[in-house]
Amino acid sequence: MRKVIFLDRDGVINIERGDYTFRLEDFVFVDGLFAALAFLKNHGFEFIVITNQGGISKGIYNHDSVIVLNKLIETEFKKHQLNVLDIYYCPHHSDIEKCICRKPNSLLLEKAIAKYNIDTTKSFFIGDSDRDINAAQKVGVKGIKVNKNSNLNVYLNQIIT
Ligand SMILES: [Mg+2]
Ligand SMILES: [Zn+2]
Repeated sequence: MRKVIFLDRDGVINIERGDYTFRLEDFVFVDGLFAALAFLKNHGFEFIVITNQGGISKGIYNHDSVIVLNKLIETEFKKHQLNVLDIYYCPHHSDIEKCICRKPNSLLLEKAIAKYNIDTTKSFFIGDSDRDINAAQKVGVKGIKVNKNSNLNVYLNQIIT
């Protein structure tokens, strides 16, 4: 079975700007991200991104905008010898339509766990929002709540003990 670090996107991978990030020029990787993930990779973890993209539901941007940024993430990860197993996003927003995939709901996590045969007891969810942590708890994955836009280095001792 795989052990996975689930990653929120905005505020963890890229800078949370306090507004929707959907343009390439607004997408800035958080300092120290790749070094921290390389450390985790060396400890046997793989990576999956789980992100709420309710701006689609609101009509602010579309699926293509998200897919372009997904490709950027995959490309940058590869440059650092890192691999993203998958990127899941919820396009819905609770103000517009109900769904069971938007965090704190756990459908996207459940899909990933089934598809990739993930050992939930050895996996973690790194997120900057209570929604991330709550979604993780629903599927028995330990949540690591981080300050938005912070270097993940500070939190590695909660994962590798
Ligand atoms: Mg976030
Ligand atoms: Zn959804």
